[in-house]
Amino acid sequence: MYKKTLAELIAGLEAGEFSSVELTQMYLERIKRWNPELNAFITITEELALTQAKQADQQRHQGKGGLTGVPIAHKDLFCSQGVRSSCGSKMLDNFIAPYNATVVENLQQAGMVLLGKTNMDEFAMGSSNETSYYGCVKNPWDVSKVPGGSSGGSAAAVAARLAPASTGTDTGGSIRQPASLCGITGLKPTYGRVSRYGMVAFASSLDQAGPMTQTAEDAALLLQAMAGFDAKDSTCVPQEVPDYLSGLNNDIAGLTLGLPKEYFAEGLDDEVASTVQQAISELQKLGAKLVDIELPHSHLSIPTYYVVAPAECSSNLARYDGVRFGYRCQNPKDLEDLYKRSRSEGLGAEVQRRIMIGTYVLSSGYYDAYYLQAQKVRQLIRQDFQQAFEKVDMIVAPTSPTVAFALGDKFNDPVTMYLSDIDTIAVNLAGLPAMSIPAGFSQQLPVGLQLIGNYFDEAKLLNVAHSYQQQTDWHCQISDGFNVE
Ligand code: GLN
Repeated sequence: MYKKTLAELIAGLEAGEFSSVELTQMYLERIKRWNPELNAFITITEELALTQAKQADQQRHQGKGGLTGVPIAHKDLFCSQGVRSSCGSKMLDNFIAPYNATVVENLQQAGMVLLGKTNMDEFAMGSSNETSYYGCVKNPWDVSKVPGGSSGGSAAAVAARLAPASTGTDTGGSIRQPASLCGITGLKPTYGRVSRYGMVAFASSLDQAGPMTQTAEDAALLLQAMAGFDAKDSTCVPQEVPDYLSGLNNDIAGLTLGLPKEYFAEGLDDEVASTVQQAISELQKLGAKLVDIELPHSHLSIPTYYVVAPAECSSNLARYDGVRFGYRCQNPKDLEDLYKRSRSEGLGAEVQRRIMIGTYVLSSGYYDAYYLQAQKVRQLIRQDFQQAFEKVDMIVAPTSPTVAFALGDKFNDPVTMYLSDIDTIAVNLAGLPAMSIPAGFSQQLPVGLQLIGNYFDEAKLLNVAHSYQQQTDWHCQISDGFNVE
C-alpha cells in the first residue's frame, strides 16, 4: 500500500479496499519506524491525523470524494492551526499557529489528513537542509548525503514513502532541487498562482508554494486543490484555475522545447548532463522538437538573488524581535538587549548572515548601487525568458548541476552552497512555473529533469511530465532500505 500514488489511493478509498484510518495508521507507523533515521519530520500530528482520518471516512460514506482521506505532510513553514509551525527555527520553536495557511486550509477542506510537519532549512534559507534548528535531514537514497533544501524534509518523506505526498515552497529552488536530489516530482507554480497567506515569509516577491509528489498526475491533483485566488494575499492572481487533470494525456508531438546553452555549461556534472540529455531524447521520441536557445543573463541570477532575497528577508524577519513572536531571551537588561539577544540567540548563522546582507543592501548610500541595480538585472532575466518563449513552448534543463552531495560538504562554504541553485533561481526571479521530475540516476543517486514553462502554463508542464512518466519508471523507484512493508 505504501507504494501507491495519490491517484491510486483515491481509487482504493473509493473502492473501499482500505479506510482512511488504516491508510493513516500505515503511514504513521512508517514515520515512527524511519523518522529517527531520516529526521524528515519536526512534528508528527498523530492524534490530529487519526481524528481527521475518522472524519474523512465518515465523509466518504456520505459521498464526499476526491482527496478525502488521503494523507499529506506539510513543510513546517505553513501555519497549521493548533500545531507547532516552527519554520525550522529556534525562534519559532514555541509558536503554535492560531490559524491555517490558505494552502493548509484548502487541502483540509478537500478532506486531506495531516500526518505532520516536515523538516526544512531555517526560514527556508539553504540548499541542503543543514541549517535547520532540528538537525539535518538525510537523503533516503544514501543517508550520508543531503536531501537538498530547503524543502528537504518534504522531499525525503515522499522519497521514503513516509507520506504519499507533501507540500513545499520554492523561493530559489526549494521544491525543485530537493525533488531532484531525492528522486521525486516537484512543481513550483507561477508566482501568484497559489496563496502565500499563512506561509512564513522569507522573500515575498519570490516565495511560492507547490506540490511534492511521486508523479505528475499527483502534482496535478494537489495543485488543483491548492491553487486559486485568495483575497488574503494581495499578490495572488485573480485568474481561474484550469483543470490540470484533463490535459495530462495530450499528445506532445510538435511541442518545441528550448535547450538553453547556459544551463549545459561549465559546472554541470558530466554524468548528470548525459542523464538529462537522455531524458530529453525520450521527449524527442514523443515528437517534441528541440531548439537551441540563449538566456544570456543567466550568470547574473545568483548574484541578483543574493541581493533581492536577503533584502526582503531582512525586512520580513524584523518582526522576530522577542516582543511579539517566538523566542525571547532570558533576563534582558533593557529593550535593546532584549532585541539583540533574542535575535542572536533565536536565529541561526545563515539567517543572521542574510539579515546583515539585506540590511546592508537596503541602507542609504548602498540602495542604488545594490538593490536598485539588482531589480534592473532581474528585469533583464525576465526578458530573456520572454524572448525565449517567443520561440519555444517550454524550456528543458537540469534541475541541479550535481546529484546529492555529502552532509557537511558545503556547509562551511556559503558561496559554494549558493551555487547549487544555479539552475533554479532565475525561474523565481522571473516568476515562472517549473517542475523537476525523476530522470535517471548517476552514482546511484537520483537526477532531475527540469521543465520551465511560460506564465500560468502549469497544465502544459504537467502534460509533458506525465507523458514522460508514461514512458519511463524513474519516478517509481524507491531506495531499497525503504522499499519494504
Ligand atoms: N537555496 C536557496 C536559498 O538558500 C533557495 C531557498 C528556497 O527556495 N527557499 O535561499
